[in-house]
Amino acid sequence: MSIPTLESLRELGPQQQPTYPDKGAVTSTVARLEALPPLVFASECDDLREKLAAVTRGEAFLLQGGDCAETLSGVTAENTRNKVRVMLQMAVVLTYAASVPVVKLGRLAGQYAKPRSSDTETRTVDGEKVTLPAYRGDAVNGFEFTEAARVPDPQRLVDVYHASAATLQLVRALVSGGYADLRQVHTWNTDFVKGSPVGQRYEVLAGEIERALQFMKAIGADPDEFHKVDFHLSHEALILEYEHALARLDSRTDRAYGLSGHFLWIGERTRQLAGAHVELLSRLRNPIGVKLGPTTSPDDALALAAKLNPANEPGRLTFITRFGAGKIRDGLPHIVEKVTAEGVQAAWVCDPMHGNTFEASSGYKTRKFEDVLEEVQGFFDVHRRIGTWPGGLHVELTGDDVTECVGGGEELTDLDLADRYESVCDPRLNRVQSLELAFLVAEMLRQ
Ligand code: PEP
Ligand code: MN
Repeated sequence: MSIPTLESLRELGPQQQPTYPDKGAVTSTVARLEALPPLVFASECDDLREKLAAVTRGEAFLLQGGDCAETLSGVTAENTRNKVRVMLQMAVVLTYAASVPVVKLGRLAGQYAKPRSSDTETRTVDGEKVTLPAYRGDAVNGFEFTEAARVPDPQRLVDVYHASAATLQLVRALVSGGYADLRQVHTWNTDFVKGSPVGQRYEVLAGEIERALQFMKAIGADPDEFHKVDFHLSHEALILEYEHALARLDSRTDRAYGLSGHFLWIGERTRQLAGAHVELLSRLRNPIGVKLGPTTSPDDALALAAKLNPANEPGRLTFITRFGAGKIRDGLPHIVEKVTAEGVQAAWVCDPMHGNTFEASSGYKTRKFEDVLEEVQGFFDVHRRIGTWPGGLHVELTGDDVTECVGGGEELTDLDLADRYESVCDPRLNRVQSLELAFLVAEMLRQ
């Protein structure tokens, strides 16, 4: 299938796009991006699509996680390693405790653009109310609350390309260069065990895995799978200039792929059936996702599936539901029932973050760990009752000890949020909360 022109996409009136003051600069940036090499390979996208087909069939579980918004200054070895590490630990917990293969997918190496519910942001500065354009992610403008920083600058798209390339290269080295070797299962946990009940619980599990590995070694079995892991990368496909410039024809098959990441998703605010995002992604061969919020009707989901996956191929389409803890049990069943009754092939994944955000009394945007858990439990209960497979988890997390979500075993409160609130957008689960969630979800999977 051919790639639509950028002009034809713009004519569809795309939502959530930056208003660049200098159109000439946009044209030259697009030309620059078009000349740069792809960030990922089409064959890797195919490989992930196969894995997601196993998720669709109920034979594997997807773990998708990372920052709400990556930042250019956050591209450090430590930050990236910590995110990969917590994902590896979560995957080990899920695989070992539930005996289900886990497909690992970072919200990483490209997650730099944010849809916003308001075009502007108002803050009180020196006793006066100041209104500026909203921050739309480092791909668009600066987080700093100044007039200059908030002006959209297309050069940022090139900066994001290079930041993504650096992150990708590090992730590739981590997952194939020994760090992800299963024999490192204890090492991932060092600096974490002491004082953390969930770290100790992990340590017990790691000990069991280590004994199993020694047994395997003793009998002469040492498969490749022990030494490296598959880890793919994803982000929301939001900025059309960027995604279009990185959409390329694959020389093997002459088909179009979005080569800015392996898995691209369409957000809740840009999933209009006749919109530019749906149009562009319908033409790309990657595995893709669509977020479905509480206003989704069963017919919306069916129409999206027909447009995005006309061949009804398993692995091509993932529905990422984000209803909120209070809405999922009533809102999700009729969608899953109708989509399933129509024979639509789609993986079902739970995003328990975006329906559960609220403002704490301290003013910080936060989420309760218990609400996150309650939505995941609701998701499992709904799918179990209907007989469909609860295929995965999509979470905003970091490998660091931030204080952005309240609750969990550490019992973080509103008052703790100020300690280490580092997200430039939505609150993320910290390392302890992420691992706790993995243990709790493993129990749900086992039932
Ligand atoms: C997100 O994933 O950060 C996001 C904005 O989600 P949604 O489109 O579901 O609101
Ligand atoms: Mn978010």
